Amino acid sequence: MAAMATDTTSSIVPASDRSPSSWGLGDGRAIPWEYAPAPEARDIVTLKERYGLFIGGRDVPASDGGTFGTLNPATEETLAHVARATPADADRAVRAARRAQTRSWGTLPGRERAKYLFRIARILQERSREFAVLESMDSGKPIKEARDVDVPLAAAHFWYYAGWADKLEYAFPGRVARPLGVAAQIIPWNFPLLMLSWKIAPALAAGNTVVLKPASTTPLSALLFADVCRQADLPPGVVNILTGPGEVGMALVTHPGVDKVAFTGSTEIGKRIAKGVAGTDKALTLELGGKAANIVFDDAPLDQAIEGIVNGIYFNQGEVCCAGSRLLVQESIAETLIDKLKDRLATIRVGDPLDKNTDVGAINSRAQLDKITELVASGVAEGAELYQPACDLPERGFFFRPTLFTNVAQSHRIAREEIFGPVLSVLTFRTPDEAVEKANNTIYGLSAGIWTDKGSRILEMAQRMRAGVVWANTFNRFDPTSPFGGYKESGFGREGGMHGLHAYVRLEDR
Ligand code: NDP
Repeated sequence: MAAMATDTTSSIVPASDRSPSSWGLGDGRAIPWEYAPAPEARDIVTLKERYGLFIGGRDVPASDGGTFGTLNPATEETLAHVARATPADADRAVRAARRAQTRSWGTLPGRERAKYLFRIARILQERSREFAVLESMDSGKPIKEARDVDVPLAAAHFWYYAGWADKLEYAFPGRVARPLGVAAQIIPWNFPLLMLSWKIAPALAAGNTVVLKPASTTPLSALLFADVCRQADLPPGVVNILTGPGEVGMALVTHPGVDKVAFTGSTEIGKRIAKGVAGTDKALTLELGGKAANIVFDDAPLDQAIEGIVNGIYFNQGEVCCAGSRLLVQESIAETLIDKLKDRLATIRVGDPLDKNTDVGAINSRAQLDKITELVASGVAEGAELYQPACDLPERGFFFRPTLFTNVAQSHRIAREEIFGPVLSVLTFRTPDEAVEKANNTIYGLSAGIWTDKGSRILEMAQRMRAGVVWANTFNRFDPTSPFGGYKESGFGREGGMHGLHAYVRLEDR
């Protein structure tokens, strides 16, 4: 913190006088609190000008030589050009994965597969700073989140599934677990490395090989992961990475050589993928959108709940499928809670993702920023009341202020549609029944949060939530041992834990 208060002795500044650059204690005056810049050095990352596809253990150009650029959304500078795969490249990659599955990986004993996964986990930890900085640059997420959440959790997934690789008979007692074969895996841009690990670690542990397509706006951490595979001496073709547009994803989904499809992304594309595999015997898991209710009862510890609400919706700029984007507050505490929340919003720091003080970084792309802007405008037009703290946004890059809507009706688009941005819609309820009804009044069913002092109420509410994950007195907590997935239009199948392993095996009788 650079500039400190000159007078910290007197009364609290009225909330209306507070803003991020004038916040503090004083006799009616706001005291400026400025954070000195704390930029993470970017020289740990060596960017190549061009990246190829990773097929059969080799770095190869696209079959037609095509490339596309990937931007830093915080600066709009082009970071690198990556190969733009074609359907012919999808075919090459699936063949490489099949060869590796039948000739090397699928025949290795589990304890040998485990050694590779442990090695990958260790290398991810050794290169964690490099991954964190690269991920922040390519996606716009704050470095402190990439550093403290994405990368350690990605490594933890490899550790966890490495442990299962030689114990499949214990995971599925009395059954024989066989790999499915070749998995096509398509991941989104909000947690690029973490989603890669959710997909690749269980697949490999169970003896499958994979072809993974990262999102076009965030290909770089997957390509750095290709380097990790080489460093770990992973047999060629076990992991293949195809950068390219959605049509390459669809070429993978419909490829006859693929046995399993795993997708994380929008509900719209998830539905197209379901159609693409319909009528085949391919296994499918879909992890799609969400519109989670975060429910605060009048007996909840309010200051703790405020932190949970902030973490629930402003973590990763709100670009989180399980974000707590609908806040349901018991009416008797609504006014107090909203006042506290507004005060807290004024302290959120928006800006350079590579600054270690930044809480909310850049929105991943211009298209996503436009989508958020349009939905926020619809909230205002439909009559909800908008609140945004008065913070300065960087001149370049795709930034959006933390936003809070009160006076929201369930029919408003901002209460129904996934915004995937730092935008919270506040609704109220009087009774637990009303809270359940409102929470479940959505096409989605990925996650929910409950804040209350009563254990019995937590258990009752959790049972009544139509949501795959329910957090109690916390939000957005992830662990490799714990399954994650949705109901309704949030998809089906589970990732994480033994459930996540199940999605990559065929169980036979002994
Ligand atoms: P998409 O669902 O389009 O993208 C997710 C992944 O699917 C990307 O790798 C994408 O590739 C790929 N893809 C796109 N089209 C196809 C296709 N026809 N067949 C196979 N794969 C395809 O999400 P968007 O990036 O367009 O984001 C739109 C909205 O989706 C967001 O605003 C948000 O609401 C939601 N979303 C939800 C996510 C979640 O975690 N549940 C994650 C991301 C978005 P490419 O990048 O090349 O287009």
